Amino acid sequence: MGGTFDPIHNGHLVAASEVAHRFELDEVIFVPTGRPWQKLGEHTSVSPPEDRYLMTVIATASNPQFSVSRVDIDRDGDTYTVDTLRDLRRQLPDAQLYFITGADALESILSWQDWEELFDLARFVGVSRPGYELDATHLAQHLAQMPDDTLHLLEIPALAISSTECRTRAALGRPVWYLVPDGVVQYIAKRKLYRAPRASSPGVS
Ligand code: ATP
Ligand code: MG
Repeated sequence: MGGTFDPIHNGHLVAASEVAHRFELDEVIFVPTGRPWQKLGEHTSVSPPEDRYLMTVIATASNPQFSVSRVDIDRDGDTYTVDTLRDLRRQLPDAQLYFITGADALESILSWQDWEELFDLARFVGVSRPGYELDATHLAQHLAQMPDDTLHLLEIPALAISSTECRTRAALGRPVWYLVPDGVVQYIAKRKLYRAPRASSPGVS
């Protein structure tokens, strides 16, 4: 499961858990992006890769089925899913890979580079997400040319949580308890992530 994970939240974890169950996966590997080129216009400052990696490790540590890969954060340059999948394929030559992604990300699959190669490297699972419709008809014409089993759409329990909402809450001093795992709440506080830049107030420390 790829993502920026800035921060990882319970929506990601529920989606991963549900897909693992439904597809009888042995393992879910969370892959924090290095430089997420899709996000550069969305919010300009993405947290340091090492912070996003550590939050992902903290969030997944208690689940023996979950692990975290550094392939994207250790690769220089922008992160493209095709590189992620090539690296994972190299590391796990015998595995059947499934790329888990949200409905919003799935919509941009067809605009990704080398998307035909993507479908050679992995099966894709698009999970529902509140606010985004899973539009199977939109994809149908492309799917018709695809081998069976290449792309699945899956309804998962709706959790209207986004990393954007978590960052906004943290910046405003609102709680993020129960939106993200406890250890991630504590990590955000410890590293002072997502704090709004404070107006300078001379004389006050
Ligand atoms: P941001 O608000 O910064 O875009 P995000 O919440 O979308 O963050 P990402 O790291 O961008 O989190 O998401 C990684 C993947 O998880 C994406 O494919 C996204 O669609 C999916 N995802 C995120 N939140 C949910 C959710 N609540 N339910 C299901 N899927 C989700
Ligand atoms: Mg997103």
